[in-house]
Amino acid sequence: MTPQSASVEAGRGLLPQDLRAWLEQHADALDDGSLDAATVLPRLAAAGVFRQGVPEARGGLPGTDIGDAIEAVSQVAELSVASAFVAWGQRVFIEYLLRSPNTALADAWLAPLLGGEQAGATALSNAMKFLSGIESLQIGAREAEDGQWVLDGRMPWVTNLRVQGFLVAAAVTAPDGTPAVVALPHDIAGLVRSPDLSLLALQSSNTAALDVRGVRIGPEWLIHPDAREYLPQARPAFAGLQCGLSIGLARRALLAAAQAGQGQASRGILGAPLEALRAQVGALSDSLIEGVRNGRFVAEPWALFEIRIALADAANQAVQLELQASGGAAYLRPAGAGFARRWREAAFLPIVTPSLVQLKTELAKRQARLAAGAAA
Ligand SMILES: Cc1cc2nc3c(=O)[nH]c(=O)nc-3n(C[C@H](O)[C@H](O)[C@H](O)COP(=O)(O)OP(=O)(O)OC[C@H]3O[C@@H](n4cnc5c(N)ncnc54)[C@H](O)[C@@H]3O)c2cc1C
Repeated sequence: MTPQSASVEAGRGLLPQDLRAWLEQHADALDDGSLDAATVLPRLAAAGVFRQGVPEARGGLPGTDIGDAIEAVSQVAELSVASAFVAWGQRVFIEYLLRSPNTALADAWLAPLLGGEQAGATALSNAMKFLSGIESLQIGAREAEDGQWVLDGRMPWVTNLRVQGFLVAAAVTAPDGTPAVVALPHDIAGLVRSPDLSLLALQSSNTAALDVRGVRIGPEWLIHPDAREYLPQARPAFAGLQCGLSIGLARRALLAAAQAGQGQASRGILGAPLEALRAQVGALSDSLIEGVRNGRFVAEPWALFEIRIALADAANQAVQLELQASGGAAYLRPAGAGFARRWREAAFLPIVTPSLVQLKTELAKRQARLAAGAAA
């Protein structure tokens, strides 16, 4: 059974055929930036990708949960990681609003976000690193005479900054020193978007930097007053949806490897590692979805970190197997274009926050704590 048919046979083929065909046709152009990034969001929205796992009362698809949302991102990533990363940013932003005590903010923005008319961007890598003690927050807030916050700082990497309009979630140090999470609309005075960053891959993802120069906001833009309380609760969805990138890329590379090796007795040596990796990706994605569904990763984040590391490694191994099964054909243009794209897409997986270096550091710190506890 192929990895692709595995998801379809289990009744989990979540993307309509027209979206699959569109992503397949434009995957290279979305990767190298020759197709306008503005086209991606409406396509994904029309297929209901962002409504997966959102409660029906808030505009979601009935009978779906966060596991379906992860599966939807995975299925987009099978075809285009650039599009899947856009889907990740949008769906994570929606998740932030669903989890926000500021219901007025959520009520105002959920419908256009779910419908893809408004882009949602998450600039919370900085906050995730802050929680792990790696970085200080890069945006500071001081209190103005009228009680508003005045923000200054920078967000060096943000995806889904659609030039037609976006909201961005950012972490700021509040005037009293508390790390808070706020939303900023694209047209607020003092928020300046750079041109798109020039990237190795994923170019049609509206990835740019944002300068924050004296931006004034009131409490209506507060997603949560304390990131230390809020982000650990949101992190399983944030990282779980992100794992969809690795799952989808691994599945697609394994499929390509199996197809390339078909009927080639000389490549039979790859059969066993291919089968083992396919089983491993399936088991990891099942554990991921189970843990995000039952809330286990809030109390045991290290279990999620281990899965995130293993899935990124599996995707990179799958692309290596595709190369070995395809041989020289992978190195030819245009025949090897799909492989070359997956090779570049795979380079993103270890570095996106939480990066593998960061996660391995966290796991090593935990091991050291456990060892110290055992020795005491
Ligand atoms: C295409 C693309 C799109 C992106 N989109 C977004 C987005 O939408 N939102 C967003 O918030 N970010 C985004 N990022 C940023 C990304 O998630 C990472 O934060 C960023 O790539 C890591 O920053 P750096 O490479 O500058 O890492 P550095 O800070 O230079 O660190 C280098 C490596 O060491 C690790 N590291 C650094 N210090 C420590 C430490 N003390 N302990 C353990 N490990 C450490 C880092 O995690 C990283 O792996 C994007 C990046 C790319 C390439």
